Amino acid sequence: LRTAGKAYYNEQGKGVYIAGAVLDITEHKQDEIRKNDFIGMVSHELKTPLTALNAYVQLLQFKLKETGNDFTTETLEKINVQLKRMWLMIDGFLNVSLLESGKIQLNKTDFDLVDLIKTIAEENRVILPSHFIQVIGPEGLIVNADKEKIGNVVNNLISNAAKYSKKESLIAIKCEKRTGEFVVSVEDEGIGIKENDIPKLFERFFRVESLITQTIAGFGVGLYICAEVIERHRGKIWAESKFNKGSTFYFSLPTAE
Ligand code: ADP
Repeated sequence: LRTAGKAYYNEQGKGVYIAGAVLDITEHKQDEIRKNDFIGMVSHELKTPLTALNAYVQLLQFKLKETGNDFTTETLEKINVQLKRMWLMIDGFLNVSLLESGKIQLNKTDFDLVDLIKTIAEENRVILPSHFIQVIGPEGLIVNADKEKIGNVVNNLISNAAKYSKKESLIAIKCEKRTGEFVVSVEDEGIGIKENDIPKLFERFFRVESLITQTIAGFGVGLYICAEVIERHRGKIWAESKFNKGSTFYFSLPTAE
């Protein structure tokens, strides 16, 4: 039950009456929980056929490596790009549902941050041959974090950098050590973001309203999840951007003690 009210006072400052409303939100809350569980269940189930599809495409790519022609190679590459997009979207919904129900847990281990980023960049070079992906950073930056979830954050930032920029442009990833923290940045030469949209980027379901973004698939959950994951690691996430020039997304993680 939620109540909202206002007290009214007479000229001597004595309370005379209270006007208010009592609203039953239990039903509404349960509806939200049911909706959230449903989204979680559907996205979880959709992942199974998608994983199988992915495996079949990889099998075909392997089989056609020697005998395939340019057309089959290119078509399979395109299928791969779309599969990855679909995977990221479904994974996004699943993660939002887990976050909302408080079910997300961190599985922390010690690992080399730059090593992880280099592996992810390599995977993305295969999936996103349209862009140049560069990684700069010293090895041996050891963090105590959830490797899979941090990997997803990096993947999301690279995927956005590619989505919101032209083919053949550069995506530069830098890692550096500062006092007590490591900072990772993902810079693109893309469409950029207007100053007044920057504070809203990490809100759930936020998408910049423009003719270009309307033509690019997305639900505005990727950055919201990135922010939740990084904040749960006691790190920070932020963005800098110049409209029509490009954007840089940053996140920091505390150094392992
Ligand atoms: P999605 O890309 O699926 O819409 P995100 O949460 O990842 O969702 O991003 C939210 C919004 O922020 C995007 O819709 C887009 O408008 C903007 N955005 C994110 N990354 C970039 C980028 N690298 N360059 C320009 N705009 C971006």
